[in-house]
Amino acid sequence: MSKTKAVSAENLRARVEELSGENVFACYQCGMCAAGCPLADEMDRLPSQVIRDLQLEDITLLDSNAPWVCASCLACEVRCPKGVDLAKLMEALRQLHLRKELDHMSIDDMSHDEIRKLPQIALVASFRKKTG
Ligand code: SF4
Ligand code: SF4
Repeated sequence: MSKTKAVSAENLRARVEELSGENVFACYQCGMCAAGCPLADEMDRLPSQVIRDLQLEDITLLDSNAPWVCASCLACEVRCPKGVDLAKLMEALRQLHLRKELDHMSIDDMSHDEIRKLPQIALVASFRKKTG
């Protein structure tokens, strides 16, 4: 049985605000978070676009790689003039998947070479972040 309520375009913002404790309408789209994010180039949506999509309840946000790429480094929160904690919003978006027992990575998908070469701490951190 699902551990969480179904997410739809009607409740996406409310679910993320509930999980994160953040107010997405505090953001006024200045772009400072995106400018300072060290991983923005790897994301299919900039951090500022993620919060804009939450404001608009764009359900396609659930397919974005941005929450999985986010390293929770907090550079965005430090730069944000409104004190928005985007790392918490990214974590909430991950939780919407993980609470449905939808893991985002599997040891079975990794090659022996990757497992051997990657630092153990990186593997452990990734599994903690990307599996339920
Ligand atoms: S916490 Fe995530 S979104 Fe914010 S700057 Fe770091 S990697 Fe980017
Ligand atoms: S820095 Fe803050 S106010 Fe500016 S776009 Fe990012 S979240 Fe919004």
